[in-house]
Amino acid sequence: MKKVLLSVVVVLILLPLAVIHASAATNVQVNATSLNLREKPSTSSRIIANVPNGTVLQAISTTGDWDKISYKGQTVYASDQYLKLYITKYKVNATSLNIRETPSTSARILGSYAKGAIISTHGQTGDWKIVTYNGRDAYVSKDYLIAVTASNTTAKPLTTGDVIVLDPGHGGSDPGAAGYGLYEKNITLDIAKRAKTKLEANGAKVYLTRSTDVYVSPDARAAYSHKVGADIFVSIHNNSYTSSSANGLDTYYNGSRDEDDNRINPYPAKSKELATFIQSSTYSATRLKNNGVKSESFIVLRKNTVPSVLVEVGFLSNSYDASLLKTSSFRDKSALGITNGIVSYFKKY
Ligand SMILES: [Zn+2]
Repeated sequence: MKKVLLSVVVVLILLPLAVIHASAATNVQVNATSLNLREKPSTSSRIIANVPNGTVLQAISTTGDWDKISYKGQTVYASDQYLKLYITKYKVNATSLNIRETPSTSARILGSYAKGAIISTHGQTGDWKIVTYNGRDAYVSKDYLIAVTASNTTAKPLTTGDVIVLDPGHGGSDPGAAGYGLYEKNITLDIAKRAKTKLEANGAKVYLTRSTDVYVSPDARAAYSHKVGADIFVSIHNNSYTSSSANGLDTYYNGSRDEDDNRINPYPAKSKELATFIQSSTYSATRLKNNGVKSESFIVLRKNTVPSVLVEVGFLSNSYDASLLKTSSFRDKSALGITNGIVSYFKKY
């Protein structure tokens, strides 16, 4: 008899928890001066409570224009039009965090978030946070999430949603410019790899059009942005000129149609802004002569599908610029400058 009583007590304690876990709660916030919480989904129904603007509530489900809400252990109803999704941000603290179709470790995996990614959640169920993935609710384990505070948000200004293509100029059979024992194809690859590391440390997703000494056609480079779903394209080059006195830093965008094929980059204004950010930040980091932002119809720019720029970091035909580009510390400064310009651009867009 005693044993039976004990098991009844255990069931009573566990039952409310099981009920909470069974239904996902979406966090919603009152978006009105105040909001009536009612006994039933009707404006003539009894008012249980009146809550002020900004109150965060847990919505269990939606029926018509009414949200069913769990409020202080009671089920109440509130008009849907005065509620908005309440988003909480978290940082991913796992090598890779699976995004699942339902809140279960055996559920289908829809995708994953990389370590350090900042994600937005709008609810929870048990040990799972609800995220929006490809336009629908999906679930991630809360055990691998760290709440984002003001300080660790500023530490990572970009997210894996910021997709960048870096294009190291030339490669393989095409060495590009040469001077003072340096080949452009090697310098551009080194700067691009350094910029990739820095941008990833800032939280971004970065692709290189080449990561080894291989030839890639200009058309393939331009097409790469669409292929990987990039937001921006940044081509990295070093300049060269017949006169050895020419030196400094130039950044190009494509602002007018090509004379031969009549093509133009679809985002000339944004490209110009990106070029301006990169020129300014790379000038600050390198102190090369500032030759400014210019328009040119290079294939990698005009045949691209996203805002695109081409930065010429110094002249290999100039002894001063070449002596700087020879050092890894200067190439690292160049990469930092490019990174900072890209971060400024994404802060705006
Ligand atoms: Zn070049």
